[in-house]
Amino acid sequence: MLRCLIIAVASTLIAIPASAKSHTVRSGDSLWTIARKHGCTLNELKRANKLGKFLRPGQKLRIPRCSKSGSQKSNKRGKQTRSKKYRGRSGRGTYVVKSGDTLGRIAARHHQSIKKLKKWNGLKGNLIRAGQRLRVSSPSYKHDGRPVEGQSVGGPPRGRLAGGKQMQETEEWHIRRPHNAWGTAYTIYHLEAAIAAVRAKYPDIHPLSVGDLSAKKGGRLYPHKSHQSGRDADIGFYFDNVPAGYPKYFARTHGSGFHVAANWLFLRLLLKTANTKGGLQVVFLDYKLQKVLYEYVKENGASDEFLLRAFQYPRGISTRVGLIRHEPGHDNHYHFRFKCGASESHCYR
Ligand SMILES: [Zn+2]
Repeated sequence: MLRCLIIAVASTLIAIPASAKSHTVRSGDSLWTIARKHGCTLNELKRANKLGKFLRPGQKLRIPRCSKSGSQKSNKRGKQTRSKKYRGRSGRGTYVVKSGDTLGRIAARHHQSIKKLKKWNGLKGNLIRAGQRLRVSSPSYKHDGRPVEGQSVGGPPRGRLAGGKQMQETEEWHIRRPHNAWGTAYTIYHLEAAIAAVRAKYPDIHPLSVGDLSAKKGGRLYPHKSHQSGRDADIGFYFDNVPAGYPKYFARTHGSGFHVAANWLFLRLLLKTANTKGGLQVVFLDYKLQKVLYEYVKENGASDEFLLRAFQYPRGISTRVGLIRHEPGHDNHYHFRFKCGASESHCYR
């Protein structure tokens, strides 16, 4: 689908003379949506314009000739830009579907069964589409049967990380500090899968801001109290309109601009892992934002039993109930904590 979209973008651009293109900023535009609309990367757009901190409606931006709208010829010669490589990149443990792929062929190429691929990716039938990112190796074991990379040793407030995995930036998320983006295989697997699923449902959504997980070998990570053993992750929110500075920085909200549906989908997918080894242990989130989500979920017909299990709200900020809990300072990001994995024998709660 992504590929079709790009071809569609390219062909509409070809109809217009390539020089002197511009875009007039309307309210609700962000650099990200403008770049995406014109087939540019954020950096290409930034390079072509002298940009201040904020965009104002009515402002004219120069739209450069961008890699995604460029001629096919330059791509054939192998002069791929960074963004070109980024967009369908198949990372460790994931594969981006190309047109013509079948589930059977992908399974065979990665030495997996179709059944496993379907299970890991929540697929009901055999239908896949180009551009879709698939999990192609087990979150708990490598396909040669060795245990997971990334062992949490000790616990989040006093621990370390052995053989951790570094979360790599893709166009679906921005890593604020790559040297602090190390975690256990479960932590990274669950986060990446949930973010990819949100993007699949909301293809135009902005990249999510990924803050600190742990250091490469874990241990004390200033200024955090926990984040020591690869099982904590600070992650920004999804917004209706991307706030200035986001996703480079977190953005604070008590509800305004908060993309309730996308945030809920993201949370729901992670909450779903709570009954598994290596799944979600707890989420810290500001009480006011809990209320926003709670009301949305309730309105959409969630059972009382589910609401009680998922939310601390409305039982007060000091109650120790629900998977989503209030902690001060969590009005600009989620703090996810994952449980010990099946093979992590030195891992403590
Ligand atoms: Zn945190």
